[in-house]
Order: sequence, then C-alpha cells, then structure tokens
Amino acid sequence: MTDFDAVIIGAGVVGLAIGRKLSIEGKSVAVIEEQDTFGTITSSRNSGVIHAGVYYDKGSLKAKFCPEGNRRIYEYCEKYNVPHLNTGKFIVATSNDEIEKLISIYEKAIDAGVEGIKRVTKDYVNEHEPLVDCVEALYVPTTGIVDQNALMRSYIGEIEDSGSNVVFNSQFIKATRNENVFEIVIATSVEETKIKSGILINASGLYAEKNAKKLDFLDNSFIPKTYLAKGNYFETGKDLKIRHLIYPIPNEASLGLHLGLDLGMQVRFGPDVEWVDDIDYKVNPNRLDAFYNDIKKYLPHFDKSLLKPGYSGIRPKLKNKGEGKSDFLIQGSEMHSIKGMVNLFGIESPGLTSSLVIADYVYELIA
Ligand SMILES: Cc1cc2nc3c(=O)[nH]c(=O)nc-3n(C[C@H](O)[C@H](O)[C@H](O)COP(=O)(O)OP(=O)(O)OC[C@H]3O[C@@H](n4cnc5c(N)ncnc54)[C@H](O)[C@@H]3O)c2cc1C
Repeated sequence: MTDFDAVIIGAGVVGLAIGRKLSIEGKSVAVIEEQDTFGTITSSRNSGVIHAGVYYDKGSLKAKFCPEGNRRIYEYCEKYNVPHLNTGKFIVATSNDEIEKLISIYEKAIDAGVEGIKRVTKDYVNEHEPLVDCVEALYVPTTGIVDQNALMRSYIGEIEDSGSNVVFNSQFIKATRNENVFEIVIATSVEETKIKSGILINASGLYAEKNAKKLDFLDNSFIPKTYLAKGNYFETGKDLKIRHLIYPIPNEASLGLHLGLDLGMQVRFGPDVEWVDDIDYKVNPNRLDAFYNDIKKYLPHFDKSLLKPGYSGIRPKLKNKGEGKSDFLIQGSEMHSIKGMVNLFGIESPGLTSSLVIADYVYELIA
C-alpha cells in the first residue's frame, strides 16, 4: 500500500508541470516544497521568456524540448488565460566580426525547426526599434514573455482540480526503497513523517544533486556535479518604448546580456554570468559599468543613470566555466534501473519554456 502514486520534490515550474501531467493522467500526487510557497527559487528568478529554441545543439534535450515547448506554452496560456505576450525578438550583431556567428545561429535555428526566423537588415530593425543599433540581425517572431507566477498558479489549479496536492513547508529529508515502494521522509516545522509512494521525482532544481545524494538506493555515479552560474539583472523601471526583446550574440554560458521586458513593458537588462560557489541572490552594484558597456553596444543613447540593481537567479549547470555548453540531464530507470524514479539535473534555461514538454517526457519515462 502506498500513500500516493507519485511524490515530486520541488514546486518550481518543472515540478509543478510534472505534478500537473501525472495528476491529470489519474495519478494521486503530492508535490512537496520546502519553502512556504511555490516557485520562489529559480522559477521566479528568470527572464520570463518563452524561448523559440534558436541556440541549442542538435541532439540535445534543450533542442528537442524548446521549439515544441514554445508552441505548447502559447496554447496553454491562451486556453487558461495566463498573461503572456508574443513580443518577438531581434538578435543583433553589433560589429562585422559578429556576422559569421549570426549566420551560424541562423543556420542552426533553421535546422532545429524554429518557425519564421529570418535575417534582417539594420533598416528593418530600425523601422521597428529606432533606438537599437546593429549591423545586421535575426528576427525571431515566436519569442515572447509570460507571467511565470500565473503559469505556476495555473498548474497548481489543475493539480488540485484533479484531486492532488502541493504541500508547502515540507522538506524532503531522505528516501529508502523497499519492495518497489519509496519510503520518503519529510520534515515540516513540527515533525518528521514518512510517506510511501510508487514514483519519486526529484525536480528540486539547484538542489537536485544534494537531494539525489539522500536516496540511499541510487549509486553516486549517477549524480552529476552541479556548478552555479549566477545571472544578475539591472532594472530601469521604465517603459522606453521598446517592444521587442533585444539579444546580443550569445556566449558559451548564457544568451548574452539582453534587453528584457515585463508585461508592463518595463525594461530590464540581464542576466549576466557570474560563476559562484554559494547561493546568494544579492546583486553587486559594482557590476553596473560592465552592464552599461554591453548595453551601449546595441542601445548607444541609453541613459546610464536609469540602471538600478535588480534581482538575480542561479543556473544549475552541469559543466563548469570554460567546459562548453551544458544540457538538461533527465534520468529514468533506463539509466539507473530504479523503476519509478526520475532525477532532473541541470534544468536551467529554457526550463520554463520547456516545462510542459519536460513533464510529458518524464511521464513517458515512468509509464
Ligand atoms: C537567470 C535565469 C534566467 C532564466 N531565464 C529563463 C527564460 O527566460 N526562459 C526559460 O524558459 N527559462 C529560463 N530560465 C530557466 C528556468 O527558470 C528554470 O529552468 C526553471 O525555473 C527550473 O524550474 P525547476 O522547477 O526545475 O526548479 P526551481 O524553480 O528551482 O524549483 C525547485 C524547487 O525545489 C525546492 N526544493 C529544493 N530542495 C528541496 C527539498 N529538500 N525539499 C522540498 N523542496 C525542495 C526548492 O525550494 C524549489 O522551489 C532561467 C534561469 C535563470 C537562472
């Protein structure tokens, strides 16, 4: 006898999407979250961008999930009235040296099936965004923005409507396995309890490595090291009459310090990349000059005094600085031979965009 068909560790956007999928497929689910509400860690510390799938290496899970995730998030937001906006974006080359890179991004995106992407001239960009400077650009019509908290609330609504639960202030402590049943110890502020489940999903984001080490039946060789790449944002709090997202040419660890918009059209910049050893979300105001130097390459008349330190998020990366691009790693029983167990590691961007597709993938792994 089990208490639940499935227990999911972590009520971020991915854990909730998986909880939603399993519960609407008829499973009794408990999503357990150690914080007092959902999505307070990486899932609300991001850019809120519905990515198109432009950058990812062929054969990677990111390339497999993102373009479909993009279509699915738009459909979902329309159906459930989740606030979102299909802004489109420009990826800008700001010097002739960057054009070769721009063309290779374009070719990779065409290969990945990104819909509607096209090469455009500086004049085309300026017709739509007069403040932006570049030598050439890519226009990506399917990029947009979403209210990630409203999206997560909607996932929770579906979990609850299906008769399952998201339980806050409940910390996963450890799990053992006995006759195909997971015995999971959870601590609340008052007590430790043990619950039994046939399925256990570790969707604890930045903490996935730490929590995987508390599964006494999982061999350590399956647990990758997680490196932390902090992304800082600086905000303006202003509508600068820019209506598209503006991205520079990406680097190995990030999509570049881009101009982002919230749904009120306020402009912010970031995230940058700061490799860190500890989780600390303070934004160092001394990074302002580095931000300004990047911004003025594509926004030459930008007023530096508008920049204020904003928020930050931390990417759980499976490759360290200088080691190349990191992909998602989702391990089911075909990898570790533990039926009913799925570990999700390295769920950085585009995890928000891919959340519904990741959930389907996890469902297939345990089906
Ligand atoms: C700077 C930045 C910008 C990004 N921008 C975008 C973007 O624009 N578009 C996009 O698609 N993606 C973006 N991403 C990626 C996206 O935010 C993540 O992929 C996604 O939020 C990951 O969700 P998650 O549910 O896996 O993790 P999380 O949101 O981290 O959720 C994990 C949860 O597990 C809980 N937890 C941990 N340990 C325990 C425990 N022991 N017991 C109980 N609960 C526990 C945590 O409290 C947390 O709530 C960005 C990420 C970063 C860092």
